[in-house]
Amino acid sequence: MTSAARVSEAVIRAPESWSGPVPAQEDWTSPYWEVLRRHKMSIQRCVKCRIWHHPPVIACPACGSDDLAFEPVSGRGTVYSVTVCHREFGLRFGVPWVAAYVELEEGPRVATNLVNTTPAEVAIGQSVSVVYQDYDDLDLTLAFFEPSGGGR
Ligand SMILES: [Zn+2]
Repeated sequence: MTSAARVSEAVIRAPESWSGPVPAQEDWTSPYWEVLRRHKMSIQRCVKCRIWHHPPVIACPACGSDDLAFEPVSGRGTVYSVTVCHREFGLRFGVPWVAAYVELEEGPRVATNLVNTTPAEVAIGQSVSVVYQDYDDLDLTLAFFEPSGGGR
């Protein structure tokens, strides 16, 4: 087996402890983080023009309205874009790690990491589901995505 084959077969896991930056929790972002702690997902949406915003914004860049609300989403979607990263950059994910945009079935796209999978398995259009990782010492829950039906 070559080393390239071993890398493509490595199962990627969410970090068990978090040493990366802790997201700032502002008035307009805290509903997202509070819902994640209950292992649910909600995404901000403009009440006036119905456009989704993630990450959350103070005012809708499309229509200027500040009438914004968080709406529950399923946590299911498909991989819109994906990159297998072979260099560490300080977040201690270990290498390789997989950065992705997931398009939720409700429409919004979220930047995330794919876990419980291998680099060889990830593909654009793949069905994925959210998986929550709690970091109790930081009172933080992060949302990752894994292949639908459960990852490895
Ligand atoms: Zn709007």
